[in-house]
Amino acid sequence: MKILIIEDEAKTGDYLRQGLSEAGFVTDLARNGGDGLHLALTTDYDLLVLDVMLPGLTGWQVLEALRAAGKDIPVIFLTARDEVEDRVHGLELGADDYLVKPFAFSELLARLRTLLRRGRAQVDNGVLRAADLELDLLRRRVQRAGRRIDLTAKEFALLELFMRRRGEVLPRSLIASQVWDMNFDSDTNVIEVAVRRLRAKVDEPFEVRLIRTIRGMGYVLEAPEA
Ligand code: CA
Repeated sequence: MKILIIEDEAKTGDYLRQGLSEAGFVTDLARNGGDGLHLALTTDYDLLVLDVMLPGLTGWQVLEALRAAGKDIPVIFLTARDEVEDRVHGLELGADDYLVKPFAFSELLARLRTLLRRGRAQVDNGVLRAADLELDLLRRRVQRAGRRIDLTAKEFALLELFMRRRGEVLPRSLIASQVWDMNFDSDTNVIEVAVRRLRAKVDEPFEVRLIRTIRGMGYVLEAPEA
């Protein structure tokens, strides 16, 4: 698998390149938008990791030019600010996913493995789907079987994690670090409580239960392929 990284910050670029190489990927690194676009247009890559703020061409311009040229490779963009407009803009331009800096390398790896495994169909116009459940990343909305479901910000983040990692058993420690940004403390039952509330909203009113408890391990969202 070959991955192109377009990132102008030397430290971040080298770190990404080294990490992805160690994870078994072949990588190229471009340090500005123009070089990156040239490489992306002339070389076959399986995935592009694209910084937004770049000298010369911005990440947005690179993405636009790629899609205009009919290059359909999966793109994860890296944004420095967790601004809704940034996310919306990137996904509207045809990116498949995004990460807000600073991010954990393990999270980048998980996201890109998911994209490589599933191709582009799973995040469709910013919407994640599992069975009849839909999570709209742009509008921050959730619905199941056509019924709107109101979630708190944490419940939304938790469901987003479950849907992105569909089929994977997620240990409580991982959920704690990804959704609460905290280390897992066995004295707290915050995750159990949140999962119970989430289930009461997205699972219990419906016939098919999607979120399962794997005793002693964690939770998994499972949905039959549509
Ligand atoms: Ca940058």
